[in-house]
Amino acid sequence: MLIVADYHTHTRMSHGKGTIEENVIAAIEKGLKAVAVTDHGFAHIAYGMTRREARDARREVDALSQRYQRDITILLGVEANLTGLDGTVDIGGEKGKYFDIVLMGHHKAALPSRFSDFWHFFMVNELGLAGKSRKARVTDMNTKAYIRAVEKYDIDIIVHPMYAIDVDIGLLARACAEKGTAIEINSAHMLLTLEQICLAKAEGARFVINSDAHMPRNVGDFGFGIQTALEAGLTEDDIINAAGYSGKLPKNLEAMMQKKREGEL
Ligand SMILES: [Zn+2]
Ligand SMILES: [Zn+2]
Repeated sequence: MLIVADYHTHTRMSHGKGTIEENVIAAIEKGLKAVAVTDHGFAHIAYGMTRREARDARREVDALSQRYQRDITILLGVEANLTGLDGTVDIGGEKGKYFDIVLMGHHKAALPSRFSDFWHFFMVNELGLAGKSRKARVTDMNTKAYIRAVEKYDIDIIVHPMYAIDVDIGLLARACAEKGTAIEINSAHMLLTLEQICLAKAEGARFVINSDAHMPRNVGDFGFGIQTALEAGLTEDDIINAAGYSGKLPKNLEAMMQKKREGEL
């Protein structure tokens, strides 16, 4: 299985160690055709990008795209946070302004939209306040929040599902399949079981294998993700960033690739 793009990498703008250009160079050295820089969204308390950083990163990615246009496609993305039970995500209307692709997931240190969201995500999910007896109800609320976000926004990739909160992966996968959103197999922290991956595939989901690199040298490290995908019986045609993938891409990503084909980038 050959993976030709890394759509989830971090830089110093959040808690990565390298610069955008260092990630790009690492990706070229690993032979990738595309790399996305996807630092944390604005609501992340510890590592969120500021709007100014997003604006500066946009300029930098545009300049680097010119410099390395023969070598690689460079995308500016964001790892956005799920901040509300109503499916609110912390990018608002910024997508068109700064980002080529949008990744989204729940993160522990993201500032919830309202007090009720704080209560649900932090007190109930993370501190386990509801107790085991209400686990099914909490999972149902989490799943609905994810699905509402998928329906509301053009999200390209759901990152590391099952991180910090439980979701019904079958229902989420069905919503993702309908909207064309890919589900991530994260090579740094793999949280889905093989059974869950098979269930998501049965619902029609497509997948993406990413490094979630926080250091340039880890860009393009897909070993664990590939191993997991193979064990789950996935083929390159299930994985949007595999060399042999021939299906549709998520919406923003497809628009980017179309521009690239038309020579606008
Ligand atoms: Zn994350
Ligand atoms: Zn990440």
